Amino acid sequence: MLALALSALLAAPVARPLLVTVDDLPISGALHPAAGERRRITDGLLAALARHHVPAVGLVTWGNVVDPRDPALLEAWLTAGHELGSHADHHLNLTRTDAGTWLADVEAGRAQLDAFLRARGRGLRFFRFPFLNEGDTEAKLDAARAWLAARGLRNLTVTIDDQDWSFERPWVEARRSGDEAALAGLRDDYLAALRLSVRHHEASGDRLLGRPAPQLLLLHANQVGAENWDRLFLWLEQTGHRFATADEVLADPVFAELPRLPASHGFSLWDRLATVQREHDARAQVLRLLEAQSAAWTRGDLEAFCSAYAEDATFVSPSGVVHGREQVLERYRRRYPGRDAMGALTLELVELRSAWGTEVSLLDDAVPSRVHSVSVVARWTLKRAGQPDASGLTLIVLRPRGGDSWQIVQDASM
Ligand SMILES: [Zn+2]
Repeated sequence: MLALALSALLAAPVARPLLVTVDDLPISGALHPAAGERRRITDGLLAALARHHVPAVGLVTWGNVVDPRDPALLEAWLTAGHELGSHADHHLNLTRTDAGTWLADVEAGRAQLDAFLRARGRGLRFFRFPFLNEGDTEAKLDAARAWLAARGLRNLTVTIDDQDWSFERPWVEARRSGDEAALAGLRDDYLAALRLSVRHHEASGDRLLGRPAPQLLLLHANQVGAENWDRLFLWLEQTGHRFATADEVLADPVFAELPRLPASHGFSLWDRLATVQREHDARAQVLRLLEAQSAAWTRGDLEAFCSAYAEDATFVSPSGVVHGREQVLERYRRRYPGRDAMGALTLELVELRSAWGTEVSLLDDAVPSRVHSVSVVARWTLKRAGQPDASGLTLIVLRPRGGDSWQIVQDASM
């Protein structure tokens, strides 16, 4: 009997650690100005967390502290054993704000929460980027990271990004008008949307890491959450999750160094890592293509050299513009009749940039696109017997052909 129980225990899958994080404390949005309602929502959120023994991190948007009784709401989170991190003062979008204004706002939010925590013998460890937006340029990314480092704060990333907040307004309106049918439908949709987000992002993380990835779930401090988290947490328990502390989840090596990815929108960490990987792959594939082209040229195989061009490629040189792969091949044949005239080609990379953007998922989440194009600046050199070296610059634009292969759509050689 004992042996049977033990073997069943050993066979049971290990529960996946998941950290619940709650944004925009004390109350998300402007739908609940009344102090009593703010208290009721807070109590509802904390009751659901307590019922399922969830140790959460709440991220405080200090600008949401609007009522004299709001600090008591934050205190209730601490008393219940949760940790508080900073989520700026006014939740500015770093893409739409200059770095100086944004830094002043996050610093104001940090300073006020830090003072609040110090007065209660607590420390501040975490910062959550508003809109998960870490900076759309290298300069903003660096400025934000330098501020975090100077303040000893850790970027509390998100792995399960979702749109839970978008259910708040319809939920509150249905609740206020007593529309039970609407509430039932919204509850189904809220839970279904969260289940889809959890499943989608967990599959992405597991694929990237090659193992069950620990997760950081993003939720918001709102009424739809207060009235539905019980069901959500129950489902998470039933699907092999274990509510873990920040320290346990963040100890996983995948969180040790977060990827640098300038982006106009905020994404889940798994989307960021996948994008960095896709850019890396695209770069390697394009460099391989250019190497193969140099080799084809050097062995005198103009046909193979030109096979890298798209059928409708545009080739620009000081002698004019040529359209189409066939015409590009013709031009080369005229100018380089035979292998001796061609010589040995080397391409030296000067710069490579990849272009990708933002798409919108079925659940209305911003998600990174595939790499849509790569542009390369390179110096070309021709070594030919009995002649001085010829050299110049080229700007090549490539598009994915499907799979791992790329083709040149524009080439400006000078
Ligand atoms: Zn937020």
